[in-house]
Amino acid sequence: DQNISVLDPEIAAVLDAELARQQSTLEMIASENFVPRAVLQAQGSVLTNKYAEGYPGRRYYGGCEHVDVAENIAIERAKALFGAEFANVQPHSGATANAAVLHALARPGDTILGLALDQGGHLTHGMKINFSGRLYNVVAYGVDPTTSIIDMAEVRRLAIEHKPKVLIAGWSAYPREIDFAEFRAIADEVGAYLWVDMAHFAGLVAAGIHPSPVPHAHVVSSTVHKTIGGPRSGFILTNDADLAKKLNTAVFPGQQGGPLMHVIAAKAVAFKIAGTPEFRDRQERTVRGARIVAERLTAADVAGAGITVRSGGTDVHLVLVDLRDAALDGKQAEDLLHEVGITVNRNAVPNDPRPPMVTSGLRIGTPALATRGFGDAEFTEVADVIATALVGGEALDIPALRARVAKLAEAFPLYSGLEQY
Ligand code: PLP
Repeated sequence: DQNISVLDPEIAAVLDAELARQQSTLEMIASENFVPRAVLQAQGSVLTNKYAEGYPGRRYYGGCEHVDVAENIAIERAKALFGAEFANVQPHSGATANAAVLHALARPGDTILGLALDQGGHLTHGMKINFSGRLYNVVAYGVDPTTSIIDMAEVRRLAIEHKPKVLIAGWSAYPREIDFAEFRAIADEVGAYLWVDMAHFAGLVAAGIHPSPVPHAHVVSSTVHKTIGGPRSGFILTNDADLAKKLNTAVFPGQQGGPLMHVIAAKAVAFKIAGTPEFRDRQERTVRGARIVAERLTAADVAGAGITVRSGGTDVHLVLVDLRDAALDGKQAEDLLHEVGITVNRNAVPNDPRPPMVTSGLRIGTPALATRGFGDAEFTEVADVIATALVGGEALDIPALRARVAKLAEAFPLYSGLEQY
């Protein structure tokens, strides 16, 4: 029973190095966050040892009396947080939650209609080599090429033309709120199920600062690790008792075997935190931070360098930067910001002329820095560092920018005194 530093120093070194990286850099990947210590504790607990196939009170294994309590608490908190009648908290990830949703709502060969991957959709919404693209007949809508806003007239036209079984609303890279009522009206018009994947903006919904899809959608899926800031995992909500049964069967035994009880306990912790005023304050700082970044990146000096913000701004926790007319491509811009100490990801813009490994865009998110404690002043400073780096030019002083990043990181310590092992 040895400590990891003795048993496996190579992996212990990875844990140490990753902690130091997270502490010393500024994390602006829109889908990432920092979980609180209580979530790390639940995930690192003995619950990882337990098999619990089935659902609370109806397990296929003995000894589930304690993990049942954790799963019931997670279910009740998810329902209360989002105002839903039913919740399944077992999906291992957002992708498995989505696989279960499609399994419950459609049969292989049925038509699904979602936002195209290169327009901001997710792999599981019908990408060609994902299970969703292989099992279902995929039709995709996009965004208006000039406004970068989802073209609802196109959604309706495609829905009427193709009569999908499932209409999908939700995104991985889109900076605006979507109109769930309008999506539902289109779904009703063509007899489709409306499935909303709120993986990215679920934290904003929980805080009450983004419209909720729950009253409008037949099914809502989500991750727990993005804006919610909980363990890496997924969950599914519905208000329909028949669909709830189908979804439960689709998750287990349809998609998964034993649930990850340590992760489910950690989800319960995350949902508890998401109901607090501090969480709401954090989500508000997140959205304000994204607006500050968008405003700085639309200022004249940046625009003059051929850099634009898609849709002209943001309603949520991320900003999409269009570099098609800029000196740097997506990969170069990502690498440059990495050099400065800011982590972001390159992201294709609609009809991107460059290949997916290069791209002509960046996705910049604020949830992790808001969790770290950033407010308007710090987001203003980091936005200026990003703008200065991207505009570049002869006078670009990378060491000076690195020093500004280091100062911000030091002012907002992360996991101080954390014992990883
Ligand atoms: N759905 C959306 C909209 C996402 O953005 C993501 C993750 O990027 C997922 C689902 C998948 O989540 P996971 O990576 O946990 O499988």
